[in-house]
Amino acid sequence: MYLKRIEIQGFKSFANKIVFDFHNGITGIVGPNGSGKSNVSDAVRWVLGEQSAKQLRGGNMQDVIFAGTELRKPLGFAYVAITLDNSDHKLDIDFKEVTVSRRLFRSGESEYLINGSACRLKDISELFFDTGIGKDGYSIIGQGQVDKILNGRPEDRRELFDEAAGITKFKRRKGLALKR
Ligand code: ATP
Ligand code: MG
Repeated sequence: MYLKRIEIQGFKSFANKIVFDFHNGITGIVGPNGSGKSNVSDAVRWVLGEQSAKQLRGGNMQDVIFAGTELRKPLGFAYVAITLDNSDHKLDIDFKEVTVSRRLFRSGESEYLINGSACRLKDISELFFDTGIGKDGYSIIGQGQVDKILNGRPEDRRELFDEAAGITKFKRRKGLALKR
């Protein structure tokens, strides 16, 4: 499984639709300060269901929508889609390619889709449990996160190992069952 494609439109500094095509290997994104490199990883975190505006370096969630520049009017929505190659079926879904997308309007209305079908945020979280990919997974290591892991509470560090060991899903289900 690997990240094949990121499509961004109206998210942060990306007013126009932009498509990144990746291959199975290492890709580096380079550019001057403020050119939008971190916005790309924010986009991935966001489409995976990030709910904290702070994690996305904003004050509220609407701040992810392109806010306009001197030359360009603000936009009405933000859209991000990522496509993963799933030919090894690491994701428990019967598709060789999985596209997850999220759209947010200024009104606050939002939607999530998996391969074009509307779904709940919960479906996206569950799809990525135990893969390391979810918004809390370790596939995106942000600035300062390494320190946080090293200095973190043992319970928090444990979550990382649970995810890598593939038992998050079961813990989550157990928690839900005990609540009922
Ligand atoms: P550095 O090298 O300093 O880490 P970077 O390439 O990671 O820089 P980002 O932090 O991704 O840069 O991008 C910051 C830019 O994104 C700023 O110019 C900021 O104005 C712009 N930006 C963030 N949110 C929005 C928004 N909602 N609308 C328009 N532009 C935005
Ligand atoms: Mg940056």
